[in-house]
Amino acid sequence: MIGHIPTDDLLAHAGKLADAGGPPVSDTAREVSDLTVSGPAEIYAQTRLAAQNAGSVLMSSGGTTGTPKLTHVPHGMALERLLAFWRPLQPGDTLLNLFNAGRMWGSHYYMQTLAEKCRCTVVPSGPYEPDEVGRWLAMFGEVGVNALAGTPTGLADFARGVLDTGESLPVRTIIWMAEPWTGNKRDLIRRAFPGAGLWGNYGSVETWVMAANQPGCDETVLHLLPDQLMEPDEDGALLSRVGDGWTIPVVRYRLGDRVAPADCRCGRPDGLTVLGRADDALTLRSALFKVSELIDVVRREPGVVEAQLRLTRATDSARAAGALTLDFTGTADPDAVCDRLTGEFYHLAAVARQYPGALRARQVSRLARIERTNKVPAMLWQESDEQHDGTENAGAYSRSGNPA
Ligand SMILES: [Zn+2]
Repeated sequence: MIGHIPTDDLLAHAGKLADAGGPPVSDTAREVSDLTVSGPAEIYAQTRLAAQNAGSVLMSSGGTTGTPKLTHVPHGMALERLLAFWRPLQPGDTLLNLFNAGRMWGSHYYMQTLAEKCRCTVVPSGPYEPDEVGRWLAMFGEVGVNALAGTPTGLADFARGVLDTGESLPVRTIIWMAEPWTGNKRDLIRRAFPGAGLWGNYGSVETWVMAANQPGCDETVLHLLPDQLMEPDEDGALLSRVGDGWTIPVVRYRLGDRVAPADCRCGRPDGLTVLGRADDALTLRSALFKVSELIDVVRREPGVVEAQLRLTRATDSARAAGALTLDFTGTADPDAVCDRLTGEFYHLAAVARQYPGALRARQVSRLARIERTNKVPAMLWQESDEQHDGTENAGAYSRSGNPA
């Protein structure tokens, strides 16, 4: 368990939700584990009801593949509760909002609201390609930009652009979320903005912000906001929360991620780390593997900067791959990358021997991104063997993500 809610409080809270049309609570329920697990359908129904009086911003998670999951997020986005715990911006700051706008993705609008509640100026720009930054940089300096918000991918692009100009921008605050850092992205922002502190968020469209971290924290550890309880589970962690002021009160809502308790170097309690998607187990010609584990192994090969899996579907199953291509950036030799994979995953080695061409590694100059969010997914499906980048039809895997 991560966090703490007195059991009686949680049972009473679940009873109130049941009276309001939520999942029923059994008379014999005595423990958290006696309560019903809830999902996106309950969130949609509850938030839709609440929005009939107060209005909302209608957001969507997923939607890259399949049916989007909808959530009515209240206009205030529950920021009073968040700001008591995590306040990255001060009055007088100017925030450059590098998150993609539109397509019902929440992050851009969340940053607009955060700036408003912190009495800051916000520049709703969306992301830049590195070679665009030079044309805008003087203006950003002129208007006093001293804070950035974006995905690690978008922040690294911006940092690359700033470094290429040879100029600087006095950034003090960097707000990040929606995907994990990789070493090269962190190095870029450290070099471009040596005085900046990192402020991270973990959440989802359905639950909004659940956890956060700040300068002094380990970048891979986030602290659960108070009045919440998270139960780690292989099928996806379960979140409960009590009290007012959330975007939605939930009891045992199943998240798409696996999480684990973690200690943070800051010494504060209720740390967690996101291990990967709960559904990231796949098969390649009957060899079972986890996407997150495979990417971690490849990243340990000297000369690999970042890695991504491209899978071609097997003809007999939607969740099984017929062929796997490992794309990577950096200077490593593709054969060495393949050898590392087959050396550590013996069942993949057996598949590679039996099906020549089913497993290969390829050096690329840039990994594919999700068009809607500008994130680099750890894995994507492709219909054929051809390369196509930034594909919206590619199945997206993302490791953490508010609001994903
Ligand atoms: Zn910490």
